[in-house]
Amino acid sequence: MRFEFATATRILWGQGAAHEVAPAARQLGQRALVVTGQSRRHFTTLRTELAAEGIACVNLSVEGEPTVEGVKAGAEVASAEGCELVIGLGGGSALDAAKAIAALLTNPGDLLDYLEVIGGAQPLRARGAPFLAVPTTAGTGAEVTRNAVLGSHAHRVKVSLRSPLMLARLAVVDPELTWDLPPEVTASTGLDALTQLIEPYVSNRANPLTDGFCLEGLALVGRALRRAYRDGADHAARADMSLASLLSGLALANAGLGVVHGFAGPVGGMFPAPHGAVCAALLPHGIEVNLRALRARDPAGEGLRRYETVARVLTGRPQASAEDAVEWTREVCRELQIPSLRAYGVREEDWPALIFKAASASSMKGNPITLTPDEMGEVLARACG
Ligand SMILES: [Zn+2]
Repeated sequence: MRFEFATATRILWGQGAAHEVAPAARQLGQRALVVTGQSRRHFTTLRTELAAEGIACVNLSVEGEPTVEGVKAGAEVASAEGCELVIGLGGGSALDAAKAIAALLTNPGDLLDYLEVIGGAQPLRARGAPFLAVPTTAGTGAEVTRNAVLGSHAHRVKVSLRSPLMLARLAVVDPELTWDLPPEVTASTGLDALTQLIEPYVSNRANPLTDGFCLEGLALVGRALRRAYRDGADHAARADMSLASLLSGLALANAGLGVVHGFAGPVGGMFPAPHGAVCAALLPHGIEVNLRALRARDPAGEGLRRYETVARVLTGRPQASAEDAVEWTREVCRELQIPSLRAYGVREEDWPALIFKAASASSMKGNPITLTPDEMGEVLARACG
């Protein structure tokens, strides 16, 4: 066995931890670019706390998921304003935008030079400007991942800017910042976290470190996701989901993903659908088709045993079968009112392009078994309802 594990330089988790951001930022510079989502939730508090530490801040709010064009523009703003550090405060979109902007500040040339698929795929040369990640959803785990997913309008695809040099100097995960999330965001981000705990656990790149994070995270999601959705003021459930999200980021960044994220990239590149909702719509079907393929072609392999463990941890039933993971996720998607992919405009005529793109997506490399094009098509067809 061989594995590597890399993460943010420092991680702070806990209720009230967000108040540590400004004192920590003081050691990294005097002007900060603060990248937020459109809602700018919690920005006013952070700005006040930064000012108290003598740090001026420039706010950049990103609309929807980040784009190549938006990141280029953001880096120009940060440069022109003389920002020495970048703080991402928001969901996965704000964090990924901030991460990419921090990387561009210290790496010369065009963003395209460094992008996979649509660009030169050159490695970043320098460590990014200091990047602090403060998630306000529970969620994407983007505070501890080493890539930023960017949409390209021109190419209708999502691509990654990826490098260990992009890891955050500090990730501050404060469950209190998620207390005001509306139920539909709790649902989609929570199911993204769940997917990011299942896929790395059954991934062919899983390792003992990520396994531990996944099992701990799956138990948290099993007991807390529905509670957090039903009652956003259930602070214990919010804390569980916040921790589960962090664990999911630690796992996926070091063990990879699978078929659900393999499709989520191409679907999100072609249709304006939130990442978490896309993953949620695909999840039960991705598990079901993977299980059938494993039973047919790798019945004695580790994949089935791992899915069985997932089912047992999620349901809390020691006798659960691997297929119970399908039923459990299907039931949760129903209760959390996850729409099918059809709701985002995915039509049958789009399937061949989506299957083609998903088959070559980097996430697919972690899937526990290679799926045939027909099996891929079945995952997509079922997710379209
Ligand atoms: Zn995800």
